[in-house]
Amino acid sequence: MHTTISGDAHSTYKEYIDKALENNMEIIGFSEHGYGMPASYLTDYCISNYRRMPKEINGLKIIYGVEANIMDLDGGLDLPDERLAKLDYVIASIHTPKNYDGTVENNTTAMINAIRSKKMNIISHPYAPYGLANFEEVYEEACKNDVLLELNISYLKKEFDYDHISLIKKMIEIVKKHDKKLIVNTDSHNLWELGDDSELEKYKDELGLTNDMIINNYPDELLEFLGVER
Ligand SMILES: [Zn+2]
Repeated sequence: MHTTISGDAHSTYKEYIDKALENNMEIIGFSEHGYGMPASYLTDYCISNYRRMPKEINGLKIIYGVEANIMDLDGGLDLPDERLAKLDYVIASIHTPKNYDGTVENNTTAMINAIRSKKMNIISHPYAPYGLANFEEVYEEACKNDVLLELNISYLKKEFDYDHISLIKKMIEIVKKHDKKLIVNTDSHNLWELGDDSELEKYKDELGLTNDMIINNYPDELLEFLGVER
């Protein structure tokens, strides 16, 4: 989830947590946009004070991560390693800010090097850099390096000038081939989006997605994967 700290979202930690408790959710993860996103208010100080934030409220596990930006061809992210190490989990992906030319070849190289760097647990919307990457290669590399691929529900709602549904379908096919799971999330930017997977239900059959492939359905496995204690 993104809070107002991300700069492009409209709800607070308390609002999401209250809603998650209301919905009987088991885990909620916050991952603000990284330093490279022009709107983000995330800082070193903000991250270091996550240690003072609650880790659990009334049985709801709360984890703190980041959605970092892949900035360089060598897969470098927009947060220093010592900050990344303080977080429960690291999501990374390509957004607008980057220090290279966003060609198909460059985006593919940057994503593959980021996946191999072992600094990230999840690659968000890996089919996203506007159709500009060799996505099959990226999916394969993520599966081989134990980086979770994300199915971002907000992308199912959007219209693009490239066929993102086929790219998501391909991703699911490759995850299946490797006998892995993927992570699904709403990418909530406000509390009304939290837990709303109605769009996913519409596409599930077409995408070939089954419940047993979704790591969110196995909270203990997810925490173990991220190396976070229950
Ligand atoms: Zn994103």
